[in-house]
Amino acid sequence: MIKNTDVENNLTVINPEITEVIDKISGAILPVKEIIGSDYDKVIKLRVELLTFIKRNEPRYICPLCHTPVYLVCRHKTRHFFCRHTIDDGRCTVDTRGNMSEAEINARKYNGAKESEAHKQMKKIIAESLKADGRFKDIAIEQVWKSQEHGEWKKPDVYAIFDDRIRIVFEIQLSTTFLRVIVERKEFYLKEGGLLCWIFKEIKEEYPRLMQDDIFYNNNCNLFLASEETLHVSNKQKRLFLKCCWFEPVIENQEIVNTWKNEIVPFDQLTFDHEQQRIFFFDYDCEKHKLTQQLARERFEQFWLSNNSNLDLDEISQELQELIDFFSKHNILLFTQYDLHNDGLTSLLNALYSAKYGKPIGYKFRKLIQIAHQMENGHKKYLKIFGWALRIYGRDEQIKREDSSGKWANKVDKFRPLMQSNDEKYQHDGSFDQFISFLFPELAERLGKL
Ligand SMILES: [Zn+2]
Repeated sequence: MIKNTDVENNLTVINPEITEVIDKISGAILPVKEIIGSDYDKVIKLRVELLTFIKRNEPRYICPLCHTPVYLVCRHKTRHFFCRHTIDDGRCTVDTRGNMSEAEINARKYNGAKESEAHKQMKKIIAESLKADGRFKDIAIEQVWKSQEHGEWKKPDVYAIFDDRIRIVFEIQLSTTFLRVIVERKEFYLKEGGLLCWIFKEIKEEYPRLMQDDIFYNNNCNLFLASEETLHVSNKQKRLFLKCCWFEPVIENQEIVNTWKNEIVPFDQLTFDHEQQRIFFFDYDCEKHKLTQQLARERFEQFWLSNNSNLDLDEISQELQELIDFFSKHNILLFTQYDLHNDGLTSLLNALYSAKYGKPIGYKFRKLIQIAHQMENGHKKYLKIFGWALRIYGRDEQIKREDSSGKWANKVDKFRPLMQSNDEKYQHDGSFDQFISFLFPELAERLGKL
């Protein structure tokens, strides 16, 4: 939350040299305007406090770039404040930061935040949680990991070997955004064959923001937290537990929306995706893909059921276009391959939906048995899959009931041997198999065997 930064009477000087500080306790990077604020009494108190902390050698705020403690100075004329380094020996590049790359600035800020109390506390919690679980060996805090090839090195917060084979590092993220650091670390451990697991202290609100987004969305929408609570569970169960927060997609009003979930989960139940450096509990991508397919299937069905008897391009073009857009947005490129006006496809879809709903779809018939006759008369190449659909959707009894004259039973007696001997007329036409498998997943397996 940003306080007092934009209000007119903020007591910060215009264009201060130091614009941000690192809070040594929380590890947060705070805008100077936020810590100064607009309350004169408060800022005077803060000024005394900061100097007291520095005297005790426990500085509260440090410069994000050079990590030197800073204190507040008041400009006499305007009674406005700014931050100044306790040691100004030119080591800080705060005034020449234009020469520093963003990556370097970020790396410095990141390392500064690592010196905070909160960060130290987190390292301890993680290391102790690992010690509770006998499968973690060689547990080490801030041990240098040297690259064999490039002379590069990293100092992960916590390192361990899991199950005698997975070299895993835990990196703590406290509160701000360090996308470059994240990407760079991911690349480093990927090259080195190590697995990187980001750990958070807390998540503000129910929704991951800022830095968390970068890790969150790149980690299959899962992120992990460690705390006294997870340490307690780990100790009790002698097995590493972390709190996982994740998005679970659900369909609501024909849209996929994300719901926020969290649970304390055992580490050994997580999926390790070395290639993409992902560790997750819930497979968001997979579930979302499934739901997207389901949604597309439902949309198509709705469209078909309401339009099939009147498939006139002009009248339904807008609706059809929306459907096509939806499919292409989700990379389901079926409409580019199929002509919905193709008589064979239309008949096949009508027959299968008829079987599914137990009533004629797309024909002005009254009974399902009439569809069966229609298929045998005009679309023998789809009779096998139609017959299978009748079975899958539990329509066999209905067909028997509707066949009071026994005509259908007679037909079946005639064509069954032909089908069994692979008569050409009854050979399944697989032109639309892919589309049918998509729309009727319950038939997919059978289609492959026809
Ligand atoms: Zn500095």
